Amino acid sequence: MSGATSDARARVLIVVGTRPEAIKLAPVVEALRSSRVLRPVVLATSQHRELLVQALAPFGVEPELDLEVMTSGQSPIGVAARVLERIERPLAELAPAFVVVQGDTTTALAAAWAAFYSGIPVVHVEAGLRSGRADSPFPEEFNRRGVSVAASLHFAPTAGARDNLLREGVAPGSIFVVGNTIVDAVARILSGRRRQEPDPDRATVLVTLHRRESFGPPLERAFGAIRRLAQERGERLRIVFPVHPNPNVAGPARRLLGDLPNVELRLPLDYPEFLELFSSSRFALSDSGGVQEEAPTVGVPVLVARDTTERPEVLESGWGILVGTDPDRILHESRLLLDDDAAYQVRRSGPNPFGDGLAARRIADVLSAECGERPGPGRPGRSEVGAT
Ligand code: UDP
Repeated sequence: MSGATSDARARVLIVVGTRPEAIKLAPVVEALRSSRVLRPVVLATSQHRELLVQALAPFGVEPELDLEVMTSGQSPIGVAARVLERIERPLAELAPAFVVVQGDTTTALAAAWAAFYSGIPVVHVEAGLRSGRADSPFPEEFNRRGVSVAASLHFAPTAGARDNLLREGVAPGSIFVVGNTIVDAVARILSGRRRQEPDPDRATVLVTLHRRESFGPPLERAFGAIRRLAQERGERLRIVFPVHPNPNVAGPARRLLGDLPNVELRLPLDYPEFLELFSSSRFALSDSGGVQEEAPTVGVPVLVARDTTERPEVLESGWGILVGTDPDRILHESRLLLDDDAAYQVRRSGPNPFGDGLAARRIADVLSAECGERPGPGRPGRSEVGAT
């Protein structure tokens, strides 16, 4: 294929709609750029427009197409309907060899659904995560199960995720355990940067809370715990909370935390700034999926403010503790992480269960091999990357 021009390469449509999809698919776009048989084309749905643009920028990835589906006060139904309607034409015109979707967003489900109806093979990155409850997290668990039904290639981040798919009857030969591409993204952004040393006299706690199922009383209870922690520690503690723009989060955050001198309510940070802050924090309190995966990758423990997690590996490896939104639990575990140095170091000693930073390379190699490219020297063949 050495004489192939870019026009001769088959297109791979990479669909992104939200911040985590951008961060986790940017390494795949980058890895596909060196394929001799495939050319990545990025399509944005703009489910969350500003956060998506902000997340893509540090990777130098720009969408070639934009469905512009975002509206104010949008519902998952509206997002799904607009993606389904507006993606049909690009799918027909581009006729890609694959449509790649990531994770569990409404964008991912709707794009997978449309690709399936169009007869285009669906590739699922971060496949096989399951909470075990169809309604939690909502609507993500439903979305990711739906994508699995549509997908013909499943890139599982861990062996546990692969096992979930096998239990549901997914064909073993279509599953590849490759690691999570977020590890690749973190390595890419932090490479060459000097780690900021934490201030020994003033610990930083990073907070991100924004999940739909926590809106209302659960979120207010968690904010109450943050308030008590901030008041009890005073100047010895700095709490930094990049606040998600959703009014269900931003309103209560301002009301319940806005007057505290040691709580910084910030606008969403760009990814490099966020990772630098995370790396120099004592711990994070978060309900985000990505933050759970980043915790072992940046070497900082995380209190998981959710009742269930589809990332049990973060708990098993010791990097995460499930605290829900119960204020007493949040306070108890926060105090332990701040005050008990020996226990803190034990928490930080586990392996990183989410991969080695080569997931995107493996995904690009499998897709290229599917389109006839032979693996180069030192590259794994199909059976060596964990196809079951
Ligand atoms: N993130 C960011 N800036 C912020 C807050 C989060 O770049 O101010 C990143 C974070 O590092 C993680 C991702 O956004 O990789 C998580 O996105 P989000 O919490 O929106 O989605 P989830 O991971 O819960 O699906």
